[in-house]
Amino acid sequence: MLQLYMPLHFLGFVYREIKHSLADMEKMFNLLAEHEEIKDKPGATSLIPGNAAVSFERVNFSYEPNRQILFDVSFDIPAGRNIAVVGHSGSGKSTLSRLLFRFYDITTGRILINDQDISHVTQQSLRKAVGIVPQDTVLFNDSIYYNIAYGRPDASREEVFEAARSAHIHDFIENLPDKYETRVGERGLKLSGGEKQRVAIARAILKKPAILIFDEATSALDSNSEKAIQAELKRIAVNRTTLTIAHRLSTIADADQILVMSNGSIIERGTHRELLAANGTYAYMWELQQQEEQNASAGDKHMTQK
Ligand code: ATP
Repeated sequence: MLQLYMPLHFLGFVYREIKHSLADMEKMFNLLAEHEEIKDKPGATSLIPGNAAVSFERVNFSYEPNRQILFDVSFDIPAGRNIAVVGHSGSGKSTLSRLLFRFYDITTGRILINDQDISHVTQQSLRKAVGIVPQDTVLFNDSIYYNIAYGRPDASREEVFEAARSAHIHDFIENLPDKYETRVGERGLKLSGGEKQRVAIARAILKKPAILIFDEATSALDSNSEKAIQAELKRIAVNRTTLTIAHRLSTIADADQILVMSNGSIIERGTHRELLAANGTYAYMWELQQQEEQNASAGDKHMTQK
C-alpha cells in the first residue's frame, strides 16, 4: 500500500507545484506583457533616453472602441523636471502612465521621449528607461531579495541592500525570519500596502530609470509611512524626469507643473500658486482637501482626548 501511496503522493505534490508555477507565470505575463498585441515595429530602434524630455502631442486614446478616454492631451515634461497630474477618479490620470510605458498604443497623436516616438522604439529599451511605482504593487511568490533585485537583476547584493535602505525597508527585512530570503507574495508573507510600496520604491531606486512614474496609492497610508515615502521619492526624483499621479494635493504642491484632468482632457495647468490664483477647479479641490485634513486631525485630537 505504502509503495502505491508514495508515488501518488509525489505526483500530487508535482501537480500542485506545476499549478502554482503556472499561476505565477500567468501573473507575470499579465504584469509584463499585459497586452500582447503591442509589438515592436519592424526596424524598431533602441530608445536613447539621453536627458529624457517627455512630450504628449495631441494624444487621443480609447481602451475599447466607442468609448474615448483621452481627448487631445498635450503636455511636456522638460528633462529632469516633475509634473503632477490630479483630477477626479476615472478622469484618465493613470491612463497617461500606462501609455508612457506603452502598455497600449494610442489612437492618434504622438508620445515622444527625447524626441523619439515611443511607438518606433523597442519595448525593451523603453521599459529600461521608464520605472513605475504603481498604486498597487504585485509581488512575485519569491524571496523579498528577488522582488527588489527584479528592478535590475545584475545588481550586486550591496546595491540591493542600499536600495532597500533608501526605501526605508532594510531594517524591516532584517527582522524577518529569513531576512532577505523570506518568501513574500500570495503564498509567502503578506506585506501591508505601505511595505509593498516600499519594495516597489526600492526596485525603482535600484533601476535608476531616466523617467520615473509614481502612481500614488488611492488609500492613504498611515501618515508616518506616507511622509517617509514622500521624502524618499522626492530624493530619487531630483534631476529625474518624473510624472506623479496624485490623489492628495498636499504631496505635489511643489511640482514644477500641475495638470488638472477632467473627463479625459486637461482643463487647467500651472504651478500650485498659479492654479490657486486662477481660482478654478484646482483651487476648489485644494480647499476641499484642506477642510478634510483639518476635520481628520480634529477627529484624531478628539480620539486621543477620550
Ligand atoms: P483613479 O483616480 O480612480 O485611479 P484615474 O483618473 O487614474 O482614476 P484611469 O484609471 O486612467 O482613471 O481610467 C480612466 C477611464 O478609463 C475610467 O473610466 C476607466 O473606467 C477606464 N479604464 C481604465 N482601464 C481600463 C481598461 N483596462 N479597459 C477599459 N477601460 C478602462
